[in-house]
Amino acid sequence: MTLATTEPITMVSPKTVVLAKHHGFCHGVKKAVDKTIDAGELQRQAEGRPVYVLGQLIHNPQMIAKLAEDGINTVENLDDVPDGAMVVIRTHGSTPELVDAAKARGIAVQDATCPDVRLVQNKAIELAEDGYTVVIAGKDNHPEVIGIRAHAARIPNAHIVAINKIADIPEALKDVPKRRIGVVSQTTQLEDNFFDMVRALSMVAKELKVFNTICPATFFRQNSAQDLARDVDVMVVIGGKNSSNTTHLAETSEDVGTPAIHVETYAELEGNAIIASAKNIGVTAGASTPQFLVDEVVNYLKAL
Ligand code: SF4
Repeated sequence: MTLATTEPITMVSPKTVVLAKHHGFCHGVKKAVDKTIDAGELQRQAEGRPVYVLGQLIHNPQMIAKLAEDGINTVENLDDVPDGAMVVIRTHGSTPELVDAAKARGIAVQDATCPDVRLVQNKAIELAEDGYTVVIAGKDNHPEVIGIRAHAARIPNAHIVAINKIADIPEALKDVPKRRIGVVSQTTQLEDNFFDMVRALSMVAKELKVFNTICPATFFRQNSAQDLARDVDVMVVIGGKNSSNTTHLAETSEDVGTPAIHVETYAELEGNAIIASAKNIGVTAGASTPQFLVDEVVNYLKAL
């Protein structure tokens, strides 16, 4: 939404500011951030090691900058981590081979894999051990799927494929046994797509075992943003402009006809005419948005 306006700004005051029931960090991201901050604390102590995060810990530039201020740097590759340092594995998880390679170089591993992602890895291993061809309903090149596949691939004679849409099923299954198929889902898979794929697979396999491992955190945030949007004049959605789950929250609010303003910090709201003229303002934040940014926005709006 464009913030600029040439109209004179009419301030309505006082305002009612309501926060969505489900907003901000999900439990997996919170744990990962806490673990990373703890690692940074260790680093500051004399015996600490330099700390690196492998890939962006969360899609939030302010949080990444805050971590960098504390000497916690983001790198894209294990080769960029010096021997003897500490590396944080983010919520998506990693491959067991990467953890082995780190340990072989004396790199300490702080594993911040989300417990929900760990569950998918374990279910995929279980299916491979029981002799099922494992189908991961997800994007083949997504880091989470790469990790799930790599964990299950450690089981001898395992067959594992990742499929993200029905049309890809025939090609993906052409070289693997199809009689017994076990399914898990990438945690961010869309429910409708997952159920459509399960239905299609049930027509291929003689025996189909399904674990619905979709994480409800995103769904909860979208639902409560939409519920709130119905009752307010405008929604303020806080989170990284590079965060797709935050962008979806803004779209969800607009879907019910309420304008949504997506900001990273409260400063972007200064002088905004829509905010000035609104009586009831709803606020929500993506699963990767830290609480301090939410508090700053709410305090700013309440002070208008
Ligand atoms: S969205 Fe779900 S799976 Fe992803 S980090 Fe959060 S709790 Fe874990």
